[in-house]
Formats: sequence, structure tokens, C-alpha cells
Amino acid sequence: MRENELAGRHALVTGGGTGIGLAIARALADAGAEVTITGRRAAVLENAATPGLHPLVMDVTDEGSVSDGIAVAVKARGPVTICVPNAGIAEGKAVHKSSLANWRGIIATNLDGAFLTIRGCLDGMVGENWGRVIAVSSIAGIRGLKGAAAYTASKHGVVGLIRALAADYAGMAITFNAICPGYVDTEIVARNTTSIAARAGISQDEALGLMVKTNAHKRLIAPEEVAEAALWLCAANSGSVNGQAIQIAGGEV
Ligand code: NDP
Repeated sequence: MRENELAGRHALVTGGGTGIGLAIARALADAGAEVTITGRRAAVLENAATPGLHPLVMDVTDEGSVSDGIAVAVKARGPVTICVPNAGIAEGKAVHKSSLANWRGIIATNLDGAFLTIRGCLDGMVGENWGRVIAVSSIAGIRGLKGAAAYTASKHGVVGLIRALAADYAGMAITFNAICPGYVDTEIVARNTTSIAARAGISQDEALGLMVKTNAHKRLIAPEEVAEAALWLCAANSGSVNGQAIQIAGGEV
């Protein structure tokens, strides 16, 4: 990407106050974009704020919160032309032990949240005749993740949404892609480590080891490695990459 290539662009990153979202938000801001970072916890967002990162409390499971939040961001910084639906929760539970509420909670955040966020930003992209939608799915958006059916279904859903949108808007200068990471070194993995250790009756180190060995290169991925892919997808010369599910998982074949 050229230096300052995203100057004048307004990006919105859901879950932008932590982990992968924060790394993406920082990379976009470093490339010149004004970035709205959203989440439910005001203190976390305020803590992450910098001159280029603008905090906004917005719950992606709540239709009114998303539409009101995007309206506030657009009023302050103009149409959102880089939309990064990244907010997500990861809770593993066997289907036969899952209540409908468990299922719906994960789908509401990971899939409904992506739908509401993208829908809220589309008018701005069509109006500007330029846009980049980069959804953070998961390797669980490509294949089945043992013990996490709802999460897997939600992340496959994100990939399906992205592919359909790429078909719907083909021919415009708006692209839709999904990034599908393996295990990344964030709070989600820290929380998973604790819950796997408790469920399987193993140590924290053993639980972490189970996740690490799932990544083909046998290490956790840094959030910045995921951010690099998101940044690349925003470049002018990436306009022909559309409707893809890009794996960042250390060598999955
Ligand atoms: P984090 O827990 O750090 O990030 C999740 C973010 O989502 C938080 O900032 C959280 O903020 C936000 N969020 C959760 N629920 C909501 C909600 N209802 N409304 C608004 N924001 C919400 O973990 P990661 O950075 O790892 O996760 C980011 C994305 O990456 C997720 O979609 C996850 O599924 C995906 N992913 C992660 C992998 C990993 O190994 N870490 C691997 C593959 C994909 P708050 O709680 O303040 O609302």
C-alpha cells in the first residue's frame, strides 16, 4: 500500500477496542484513515483511543444501537467506506448440551452483527462508489470446529454473506472479503484456555498447546498478521480481490 493511501477515508471496526479489531484499526489509522472503533465497553474503547481512533459504544446485537451508532460516526467523519465487522464471541458447547439461547447468542453477535454492520455502511459505499468490507470470520468459517457448532455455523454464515454480497455488488468498486484466521493471540484464546482446561481437566499449558497445534505452523498468530491482510485488501490495487475467504492459519492446505 502507498504511504497515507487511506487519508480521507472513514473506517469502522466493530470490536475495535481489543485484539484483532484493535490491530486492524491501528493499521488503517497508520495508513491515514480516520477509524471509528466500536464495542460495548466504553472504558476499553477510551483506553484504545488515539487521534486517529475514535471510540463509539455500539452493541452489534441491537439493531437500533447499530443504526444510531453508525449515524453518529457518519455525522462526525463522513460516509464509512471501509467496514470491518469483527466483533465476535467464541463459546464452545456440544450441540446436545446447548440451549436455544446459547445458539442464538452466538449467531446474534457473530452473524446478525455482521449483517447489521454491513447493511448500515452500504449506502455510504454506494454513494461514494468505493468501498471495502472485510469481515473477520475464522478458520471455523471454512471447516468444522470440534465442540463449537454454533460458532462454526455463525462463521460459515459470515463467509456466505460475504460471497453473496460480492455477487450482488459485482461491477461496482466495492469489494467484500472474509479473513479466516486460525488461533490468534488475543483474549478469546486466553478465555478458551481457561474453559478448555476446566472442561477437559487438564492444565492451562496443555489447553493452550491443543490450540497451538491446530495452527499448521505450531504457534499462535499475532493480531498484526491478520491486520496486514486487512490493510492489503483496502489498497487500490486490491480491487480485483472479491468474495474471497482468506485463510491466515499458518499453512492450511
Ligand atoms: P476479543 O475478545 O479481543 O475481541 C472481541 C471483540 O468483540 C471485543 O472488542 C468485544 O468488545 C467485541 N464484542 C463482542 N460482543 C459484542 C457485541 N455484542 N457488540 C459489540 N461488540 C462486541 O477477541 P479477538 O480479537 O480474538 O476476536 C475478534 C474476532 O476474531 C472475533 O469475531 C473472533 O471470532 C475472530 N477470531 C478470533 C480468533 C482467535 O483465535 N482469537 C480466531 C479466528 C477468528 P466488548 O466486549 O467491549 O463489546
